[in-house]
Amino acid sequence: MKQKQHTKTGKKTASSEIDVINPATLEVIDQVSVSTKASIKKCIGVAEASFQEWKKTTADEKYHFLMSWHDLISKHEEGLASNITAEQGKPFKEALGEIRYANGFIRWYAEEAKRIYGQLVPSSAQDKRLMVMKQGVGVVGAITPWNFPAAMITRKVAPALAAGCSVIVKPAEETPLTAINLVALAYKAGCPKGLLQVVAGDPAMIGRSFMEDQRIKKITFTGSTEVGKLLMAQASKHVKKITLELGGHAPFIVAEDADVEKSVEALMQSKFRNAGQTCISCNRVYVHRKVYKEFKKLLLKEVKSLRVGPGNEDVDIGPLINRATYSKVLKHINDAKRKGGKVICGGGSLNFGKGYYIAPTILDQVSSNMLCMKEETFGPVIPLSTFQNDDDVIEVANDTPYGLAAYVCTRDVSRAFYFSEALDYGIIGLNDGMPSTPQAPFGGFKESGLGREGGAEGIEEYLESKFISMKL
Ligand code: ADP
Repeated sequence: MKQKQHTKTGKKTASSEIDVINPATLEVIDQVSVSTKASIKKCIGVAEASFQEWKKTTADEKYHFLMSWHDLISKHEEGLASNITAEQGKPFKEALGEIRYANGFIRWYAEEAKRIYGQLVPSSAQDKRLMVMKQGVGVVGAITPWNFPAAMITRKVAPALAAGCSVIVKPAEETPLTAINLVALAYKAGCPKGLLQVVAGDPAMIGRSFMEDQRIKKITFTGSTEVGKLLMAQASKHVKKITLELGGHAPFIVAEDADVEKSVEALMQSKFRNAGQTCISCNRVYVHRKVYKEFKKLLLKEVKSLRVGPGNEDVDIGPLINRATYSKVLKHINDAKRKGGKVICGGGSLNFGKGYYIAPTILDQVSSNMLCMKEETFGPVIPLSTFQNDDDVIEVANDTPYGLAAYVCTRDVSRAFYFSEALDYGIIGLNDGMPSTPQAPFGGFKESGLGREGGAEGIEEYLESKFISMKL
């Protein structure tokens, strides 16, 4: 897709531009205008005016607009996917998968727009009628990360628009082009003026501009726990509503009765999608001693077969997004080696001329004092350890401030429920390495976040309940 260099609907508002870099080659592929404080203020004004009109539309109108947008995205899916590969680095087939997944949120919430039900509540007085109606919260500021440049936008924007809100998106500085492309298609699909806008540039300034403006009623954020905590503190000033989808440190548990082949398959999906740069990617693996040898052998075979390279070639794993991510992954590998971990596959960087490539890595004999067992790695690294007792592994799995996703492989139904109930995580993948889907709530316990995205819960984040008490 041809890129347009503007930060909102059709107008250039920039005082300067930021470079968009292809992580596979480190070449500048485009430039995007930087929003100023004044231009953001203007965007908020336009969004507020648009919200006042949009909230009056019927559910059918919202449905039809969202479905027109959905259909246009489907029509342009290959161009959108190539763009994701270019600015984010993931292999093209994964990028295409992301566009379809992202579009799934638009389709799901187009339907949900028709199911924003209120309630008639039984009254304790004969002459009173009690009603609850749902209304969109107002203008939403959506701050999104680079790892899923399309899906993290539609997962927020689609329910917000379906709820009757207007949205200003601030994509990650690494991946603004996908946001601009999606918004351009929304206008092609008939988006009312100002309902959906994009701003780009200095994240801290944009964050503050959103937080300080009382016309923005809701902030929705996906990103690091560190920035999430900062936004939560800033939101307190005007008691702004906030949804946070933050970091994770997912345990992957293989029980003694697990189907080893299927467990390896699930782990490969969980770990190597997007080169391990996903917040629900498994970060530490615990395999029951009884099946450890068999599991390790099969896993090694699968990991060794992975092809690494630029995402526009026929590969399974692309480059990491930037130097900071790359350095952190290498730090985790080297820390594990220093503390007695054994590299049985990979263990360092790969050279493709330019770009930040890490060899898919398996670390054996890891211990709980290693960085990879405590901090989010965000890279293609599997730390392997063993366990003997279910309760012990549950304790270790829960011993983290994070609580986003956990994985359990077992063929025993009772054990499946035992683990699912005992693990303090918002998402449990039972023999399933890829649990995310538009129909289900996604979000974390503890420091992994607040609120849910996706499913019926996802739209509630953009709705206010209004209670009406009527005396007859
Ligand atoms: P990562 O380390 O994975 O890039 P971040 O939390 O830094 O995760 O980034 C996620 C999103 O948050 C990006 O859009 C980024 O620009 C934005 N961001 C970073 N710092 C701030 C901030 N101080 N205020 C608001 N948004 C921010």
